[in-house]
Amino acid sequence: MNDMVNSDFNEQTDFSPIEKILEVTEDADKSFDTDKIKRAYLCAKACHEGQTRVSGEPYITHPIAVAEIVTGLGLDTDSICAAFLHDTVEDCSERTSLADIRTVFGNDVALLVDGLTKMKLINVEDKEEENMENIRKMLLAMSKDIRVIFIKLCDRLHNMRTLGVKKDEKRRLTALETMHVYAPLAHRLGMQKIKQELENLALSYLDPIGYGEVSADIERKYGQNQNFIENTKEYVSKKLSEYNINFTLEGRVKTVYSIYRKMFNQNKSFDEIYDFYALRIIVTTELECYTALGIIHEMFKSIPGRFKDYISTPKPNMYQSLHTTVIGRDGIPFEVQIRTREMHQVAEYGVAAHWKYKSGDKSTANIDEKLSWISKLIDTEDGAVDTEDFMRALKIDIISDETLVFTPKGDVLSLPIGSTLIDFAYAIHSEIGNKMVGAKINGMIAPIDRVPQTGEIIEIITSSASKGPSRDWLNIVKTSEARSKIRQWFKKEKRPENIKIGMAELDRELSRFKVRPTDAQKAEIIQGTAKKLGMKDAEDLCNAVGYSGIAMTKVQAKLKSEYERIVKPDEQPVITDTSQVQVKKDKKVRRSGGVIVDGEYGCDVKFAKCCNPLPGDDIIGFVTRGYGISIHKKDCPNAVEGIRNPEMSGRWKHAEWDMDDYVPGEGKPLYEVMLQLYAENNIMLLADITAQLAEMKVSLLSINTKKRTDNEMLINLTVGCRDIEHYEMILSRLKRVRHVISVTRGFA
Ligand code: MN
Repeated sequence: MNDMVNSDFNEQTDFSPIEKILEVTEDADKSFDTDKIKRAYLCAKACHEGQTRVSGEPYITHPIAVAEIVTGLGLDTDSICAAFLHDTVEDCSERTSLADIRTVFGNDVALLVDGLTKMKLINVEDKEEENMENIRKMLLAMSKDIRVIFIKLCDRLHNMRTLGVKKDEKRRLTALETMHVYAPLAHRLGMQKIKQELENLALSYLDPIGYGEVSADIERKYGQNQNFIENTKEYVSKKLSEYNINFTLEGRVKTVYSIYRKMFNQNKSFDEIYDFYALRIIVTTELECYTALGIIHEMFKSIPGRFKDYISTPKPNMYQSLHTTVIGRDGIPFEVQIRTREMHQVAEYGVAAHWKYKSGDKSTANIDEKLSWISKLIDTEDGAVDTEDFMRALKIDIISDETLVFTPKGDVLSLPIGSTLIDFAYAIHSEIGNKMVGAKINGMIAPIDRVPQTGEIIEIITSSASKGPSRDWLNIVKTSEARSKIRQWFKKEKRPENIKIGMAELDRELSRFKVRPTDAQKAEIIQGTAKKLGMKDAEDLCNAVGYSGIAMTKVQAKLKSEYERIVKPDEQPVITDTSQVQVKKDKKVRRSGGVIVDGEYGCDVKFAKCCNPLPGDDIIGFVTRGYGISIHKKDCPNAVEGIRNPEMSGRWKHAEWDMDDYVPGEGKPLYEVMLQLYAENNIMLLADITAQLAEMKVSLLSINTKKRTDNEMLINLTVGCRDIEHYEMILSRLKRVRHVISVTRGFA
C-alpha cells in the first residue's frame, strides 16, 4: 500500500478548501465521521497532485465540488468519501487502487468508487434516443447501491457547470448525454433541483440561441410585471398569518428549459405560457396544506381543471403537493403549489431526500431496506402514467427480461434474457457472428454458448480464417434474429452441403412410412413435395431443409400426401423391405422361411402374433390344423400353457433359426415386435418416442396409448425389427427417452 492513501494529518493540515463540507459534517447533532472525510480529501488531493482540469485549475477542485454537492444532498460519510475519491482509481491508477481504498476506507466506499469508475465505461457518443433508454437502464442495473447514482449525478452536475471551457464537440456530446440520460434519471429519482439545473445547462450548450431567447423573454416579462410576484406574496402572506399558519413563501418562475420545452412541444408562443408565475407555500402539516388551499381559493378566482391533489395521489417519483392556478392582479394567472416541508425536500431531492430522512443520520443502516419503501409506494400507484417508467428505472428486477452488456467500446446492447454470446455477436453485425471464433467476458475467454450477465463486458473474437457458423448454433441461439442470420449464411454459403443434409433428412422422413419407397419413387416424391411448397425443384427443397430455412413440420404433410399418391402403400404388403429382400435372398427364404422345424427346412411356418419371435429368440413350433406351423417364443405364455396341455403335447415341435439363412445387417426381412412401455404422462412423450425411432430408422407399425393413472401411461408399440440384437438396441434406446419408466417385450 502506498502512503498516498495513508495520509495522516495534524493541526497544521490545511482543510480550508473543504470548509463548507466540514461545516455540515462537524455538526454535533449528526453522526458524520469527519476524520474519515478529511482522510478521503487528503488521499484524493495526493492522488490528483499535479493534475489540472482543462480550465487550468488544480484537478482536486473537481472532487471537492462534487463532495460539496453530495454533502448538500444530505448523503452520508461514505458517499462524501466516495465523491472525493471518485476519479482516483481511473485517473491515478499508479497512485492508488481499489484495493487500497478498500483497506483504508472500507468496503462500502470501495464499492461506491468501483461503481462510479465502471459507469465511465458507458459510451453515449452519438447514440439514438432508443439507445439512451438502454444506457439509463444500464446505469441503474449496474448500480447495486443507489448512492452510486446520487454521486454520479453530482459529478455530472459539476462537470456541466464547468463545461464551458471544453472544446465544442466534447461540449455537445456531454450536453446531449446529460439531456438524454442524466436529467431523466434525476427526474425518475424525483431529484427535481438537480434535474432542472442539468436541463438548463444542457440546453444552454445544445441550443444557445433558443436558450438566450427564452431567458430574454423571461427577463422581459418580469420587467413588465416587476412587482407582481412581490405584491402577491405580501398579500398572501398577510392572509395566511391571520390563520396562524407557520409557513414559508417562495415566488419562482418556471425554468428556462421547462418554458422552452412547452413552447416547442405545444407549439406555443412565450406569451401563451400559462403558469409562468408561481408561488410556493410551504407549511408544516398536511392539514395546513388544505387549509392554505382554501384560503387561496377564497382570495383568488381559480381556473377550472387546474387543481391537482398530488398529496392524496403522489406522482410515481414520490412528488407530493397541491397545485392550483388562480387569476391574480390585472388578470395575470399564476400557479400555487402547497406542500409540507418534508414534501418539499422530496420534491427537490427525490429519493435522496427520503434516504436522508429515513436513515436519520445513521450511516450504517441497510440501503436495501431504505429502498423497499419505494416499491411499496409504487405498489399503491396503480394506473398512474409514469409508474411503469419509474419501476423500470428503479427496480432492477424489472430489467430482468433483458440482459444488458457492454461492447469493449462501451456501447450498451440489450437482448432477451438467456441470450448467448453468439446472439450478441449477431446482434452487433451478421459478419461478426459469421466470423466468430471465440469470445471474452470481462477479458476472460468464455465458451461461445455462455449466457452473459447484465453489466459484463463482452468481446467477440473473430477471424477471417473462420469457416463460418456451425449448424449446432441454430440450437444454441436464443434470438430469432441470430437464428435467421445463421440460416441466411448457410443458405448462401453451403448449398451443396445443405442439399446433402436436406436429402438425408427427407430420406429419414420417408423411412418412417410403412413402405419404403424405391429410389425412383423417392425422387418423384421429393420433386412433387418441392412443387407443392412452391419451390423450383427438389434441390431447392433439400437446400432449404438443409439450412433449416423451412420447418420439417411444414414439409411433412406434403411429403406424406406425395408419398401416398406415388407409392400407394395400401396396395403393398405390410412388412417393409420384402420386395428388396426377397430378390436378394430368394433361395434361402424359399428354402426354410428362416426356421428349421424338427430338422426340416422349408416348412410352411408362420410367426405367432401373440409373441412375435425374432431371429435369436428361443423358439418352438406348433402344428396347426391347416395353417402350417406356428412359431412361438419358448417363453410365450401361450406356448408355456400349451405344452402343459396333454391334448396338445404331440403337436409341439422343436424349432430353431436357420442361421445360414440369416444375413446380418440392414436389408433383412423385418419382424414385427411388440413393446410395452410405461412412462410418466408428458405432452412431449410420444413425440420423443417417435423421434427416437425415426433416428434409429425403425419403422413404427402401430402405437396405442392407455392412461393408467393420472401420471402414468402404458404405450403398446409394434415396430419392425431385424433380430434380437436389433431389438435390444431399440429397447435400450427407448429406455433412455425422457419420462420413460420401463420398456419390455410385449405379448398380445
Ligand atoms: Mn468526476
